[in-house]
Amino acid sequence: MRKKIVAGNWKMNNDLSETEELISQLKLQMVKDPEATVMVAPSFTSLYPAFQALKDTPIVVAAQNMNAAKSGAYTGEVSALMLKSIGINTVILGHSERRAQFKESNEMLAEKVKTAIDNEMDVIFCFGEELNERKAGKHFDVVETQLKESLFQLPKSAWKNIILAYEPVWAIGTGETASPEQAQEIHAHVRSLLEKNVGKEVAENTSILYGGSVKPNNASEIFAKDDVDGGLIGGASLNAVDFVKIVNAF
Ligand code: 13P
Repeated sequence: MRKKIVAGNWKMNNDLSETEELISQLKLQMVKDPEATVMVAPSFTSLYPAFQALKDTPIVVAAQNMNAAKSGAYTGEVSALMLKSIGINTVILGHSERRAQFKESNEMLAEKVKTAIDNEMDVIFCFGEELNERKAGKHFDVVETQLKESLFQLPKSAWKNIILAYEPVWAIGTGETASPEQAQEIHAHVRSLLEKNVGKEVAENTSILYGGSVKPNNASEIFAKDDVDGGLIGGASLNAVDFVKIVNAF
């Protein structure tokens, strides 16, 4: 049985006091045993206090990025060991904002994923096509290339640490979500790629989240699709009431 997961990507939002406030709201409002594993990804400056505040709860704290290198002259960057030293064992890699704004290529992401796996971290690996690629009917190929160039070289044993997140770029922060059918179509395609390139067991056990304008009013119908195992939530994860509704949308 693959895991259901709802993860909040807070992006570059919330200073320390706002982080503390949001976390205390989440602790108040979250149901005791949600059906999904819940994760939140605050900014680097709030990671340690977030981890401290949530360590006695089932909510997992994740980082939004990290460097592939172990240490050294990488001004402004954060390593896997630094994250692990403050209790963080999960990292989002390959978000489209990092691909677009910080020129992260599939090859660079393969390095980052390798570092995460070598350090026994869990990875939420994001991928997805841009609007022009969808309009040109290339979305299946784009997604295949992203996965092939960053993930399919991994040993089978690494896949227990990989969570996939399909985030069509045109649906991120735009209020325009993929339809449940569009999400299901890509998720099923990804699962068949996993079966072909990695194996049936990995295909069946890897969680594939959908991200892109998931809100309380559309989460249930998206999560109801067979191959959608949860969501990676941006804007709506900054509001405790909305985020908890999405967590409860299964
Ligand atoms: P929105 O939910 O704000 O569209 O963001 C999705 C996202 O990028 C999550 O990583």
